[in-house]
Amino acid sequence: MWTNWAGTERADTPVSRPSSIAELQQVVAQRHSLRVVGAGHSFTPIVAGGDRILDLSGLDLPTLGEVGNDRAWVNANARLRDLSPKLAERGLAFRNLGDINAQSLAGAVSTATHGTGRDLPCLAAEITAAKLIGADGDILSTDDIPLEMIQVALGMLGVLTEAQISVVPKYNLHRRVRLAALEDSLASMHQNWADNRNFEFFCIPFSGKTVEIRHDLTDAPESRAPRDLDMIAVKVLKLARNTGRVSGGLRTALLRLLTLAQSDEDYVGESWRVLCSDRRIRFNEMEYHLPPEFAADVLHEVLTRLHRDHKDIYFPIEVRQTAGDTACLSPFQGGPRISVAIHTDAAEDHRRYFDALEPLFVEAGGRPHWGKMHSLSYKELSGLYPDFDRFCALREQLDPKGKFLTPALARLFQP
Ligand SMILES: Cc1cc2nc3c(=O)[nH]c(=O)nc-3n(C[C@H](O)[C@H](O)[C@H](O)COP(=O)(O)OP(=O)(O)OC[C@H]3O[C@@H](n4cnc5c(N)ncnc54)[C@H](O)[C@@H]3O)c2cc1C
Repeated sequence: MWTNWAGTERADTPVSRPSSIAELQQVVAQRHSLRVVGAGHSFTPIVAGGDRILDLSGLDLPTLGEVGNDRAWVNANARLRDLSPKLAERGLAFRNLGDINAQSLAGAVSTATHGTGRDLPCLAAEITAAKLIGADGDILSTDDIPLEMIQVALGMLGVLTEAQISVVPKYNLHRRVRLAALEDSLASMHQNWADNRNFEFFCIPFSGKTVEIRHDLTDAPESRAPRDLDMIAVKVLKLARNTGRVSGGLRTALLRLLTLAQSDEDYVGESWRVLCSDRRIRFNEMEYHLPPEFAADVLHEVLTRLHRDHKDIYFPIEVRQTAGDTACLSPFQGGPRISVAIHTDAAEDHRRYFDALEPLFVEAGGRPHWGKMHSLSYKELSGLYPDFDRFCALREQLDPKGKFLTPALARLFQP
């Protein structure tokens, strides 16, 4: 039985694990429908639902292919955490990365996975060329399909095998983490994105505090990273929530203790090691990418509703910014967006909280993260992307029998 990372998506369909491109072509050319899986870290039904799951982790391709000064061909199904050290051996690095690096490159770009940084685009925008296997089993490339269609495609145009990515000389980052007052973080967020290469903040529910994280380029040598205490912090937040069910005052007291115990971080490390963490506590997530001018108002309302109606929530709200790009299905297509992510314990019901807040994101013209929970369908999505119908027409042309289409995806990509 296949399940995604959060345990919310399941499939008991067979899993094919081709080891060569020829074998992959044969599997794809067969009549059954199939969906490729990367690392299974998406929260939405975008992997399960076909006759078969295709796992390409054993494909016989080198992690790195041809490497230039600012471009590198890579195995598209390699994990980001394996690509970074290989690039570093050649003096290179990803321009930016998200919170984790467990994803495969293909899985990450297919849903427009992003990090944070006003001038830094999502990973899909770093794809400059690609090779893929089309629905008939043919080998296709960006000579056959426009790049801006392939960059973010949720595995619907074909199976990515190799990708050429834009890379930068490897670099160190100076990481600074500090506690701030919620109102200060909200008031200064735009300035912080202007002042720092990477800036994000986490609003800690019911505490009036945020954790602000800054990363800036430095020539300074690496220094010792402190122990990662995120997991312990989340456990204390849960404990505070549980005690709060008995006494609201106890929750406040525990949160005050937690924020007092939160120590600042200040160290230098290699970019990919500093940007990415391990996330061991399972959660569910919804994330919307908002036009920057509406983000502050939406955040105020989100926090008001959270504090008024959702006392059970203890996961922080994450706020990031990503630069615009030109990929047709990229939520950042056309300009920068501020991303607001809400989370719940994977073992607890997320619906009441997510359903209550989603209309705020939608009303502000937010676009949902393709890999995170949302309730939109074709009708709403087609209004959010100028090239949506062009993408849908191309999908129909390349895959007329719907080999890569499941009922869940048809809800999003068919009128
Ligand atoms: C703990 C955690 C932290 C996260 N942090 C971030 C973050 O910081 N920023 C962010 O933006 N997102 C984040 N995400 C979401 C995650 O990055 C995306 O959901 C991403 O798509 C997952 O990559 P994956 O390799 O697991 O792909 P999967 O979830 O397995 O697949 C995603 C999509 O890619 C398609 N696909 C996979 N391989 C191929 C291929 N070879 N060819 C064509 N299509 C393919 C699949 O069919 C599917 O449609 C996080 C998720 C988790 C669980």
